[in-house]
Amino acid sequence: MLSIYNTLTKQKEEFKPITPHNIKMYVCGPTVYDYFHIGNARSFIMSDIIRKYLEFKGFDIMYVMNLTDVDDKIIKKSNEEKVEPQNIAEKYTKAFFEDIEKLKIKKADIYPKATDHIDDIIGMIKELKANGLAYEVDGNVFYDVRKFKEYGKLSGKKLDELESGARVEVNIEKNDPLDFALWKKAKEGEPFWKSPWGAGRPGWHIECSAMSCKHLGETFDIHAGGHDLIFPHHENEIAQSEGATGKKFVNYWLHFGFLNIDNEKMSKSLGNFFTARDILKKYSAEAVRLAFSQTHYAGPLNFSDELLASAEKGLEKLNNLAEKIEEEIKANVTNGVTPEFDFEKYKSDFVSAMDDDFNSPQACAVIFDFIREVNRTVSSNKKTNTEFYDGVKNFLKQTAEGVLGILDFSKVLKKGGGELQNELIELFIKIRTDAKKEKNFALADKIRDELKEIGITLQDSKDKTTYKIS
Ligand SMILES: [Zn+2]
Repeated sequence: MLSIYNTLTKQKEEFKPITPHNIKMYVCGPTVYDYFHIGNARSFIMSDIIRKYLEFKGFDIMYVMNLTDVDDKIIKKSNEEKVEPQNIAEKYTKAFFEDIEKLKIKKADIYPKATDHIDDIIGMIKELKANGLAYEVDGNVFYDVRKFKEYGKLSGKKLDELESGARVEVNIEKNDPLDFALWKKAKEGEPFWKSPWGAGRPGWHIECSAMSCKHLGETFDIHAGGHDLIFPHHENEIAQSEGATGKKFVNYWLHFGFLNIDNEKMSKSLGNFFTARDILKKYSAEAVRLAFSQTHYAGPLNFSDELLASAEKGLEKLNNLAEKIEEEIKANVTNGVTPEFDFEKYKSDFVSAMDDDFNSPQACAVIFDFIREVNRTVSSNKKTNTEFYDGVKNFLKQTAEGVLGILDFSKVLKKGGGELQNELIELFIKIRTDAKKEKNFALADKIRDELKEIGITLQDSKDKTTYKIS
């Protein structure tokens, strides 16, 4: 039985999809105004692992992630860089797809964009107005939070408590400082669309309500996002969606914990801000995924070089075994022994771990126990039949590769890719050494960085450079 901790009910519940075998899942995606940071990467990777586990269990999943492509941050950046907001959004949408691919994240079925859904958004705002939950002030439309009786049910916040801490914006006539914008009146130099309330653009929260409804229906199974989105974003999504349709919006709400860097909050001003791109220059995608998997998705995660270095170490064990598997499969041994090995036990341990609110740290522990027992089994037999390795590969392919994404057999195979590959790498090393001699460090660094991008890490020692393929 799969159980999930539901932020809405604040307890672990048995997971029951609306339609058997089918799951509809929505994850809040990026605002495409910059490269996404390592905290966002945690949400994207953990949602990917959850999705892949549900697929492993045989569910068919419709997985939707929105792209916020019109927003204050995009407009600010476009003013700074003196290019159209649309160009900013396009540039960082492209970067987003490059980065998720490098992180081994499976693409969503749909990536709806806010600017492609302006009509749906306007339609929902009209419904909210018709239902008496929204009001217009001088070309702006606001949600009237006091009119939605269940406001606060997700975050557990009380309106009156929020009220005392609310920041009162000057110049805007709202009924209540907590009321939020559904539609913002166009300002000079900003992108706008026509609406019944005049030219303007949608507020941020409404896009997720309108687009999830369009692509997944009025009520769907799972909605996930970072912990920081519980309030106000997800609270507002519930108010909008349930206010418009009168139906329950989402059955299970999942939230990913905060990510700190060396026990401090990540921030540009502290100089400890890292994009996923930065991290992938130093560490493999598998290491990042393992480091994340070894902490429960809902808990806080302290990101550090030690954490990543220890993940790389763990991966060595996994990769060494994967290499051995490939060699043994190539060798095709049939005249040895096929040891007794309880593959089913490991599979069921993996499943019980993940069934318990996606307990990936426990699932990782099962995989490392499995590696240890395989190694023990192999060393206690003189010659092991390939049949045994087929079983080992099958288990790792389904779990470590298929669900957690901490192993990539296609890379292991490439490793034996012959002399030509090795010669080419040696050639690059030679060109780089020559470049360094000529003090062309820009070229030398470029060679090192680009090799790293394709999984070849150069290691400089006193008088020579060696390489490692990950
Ligand atoms: Zn959202």
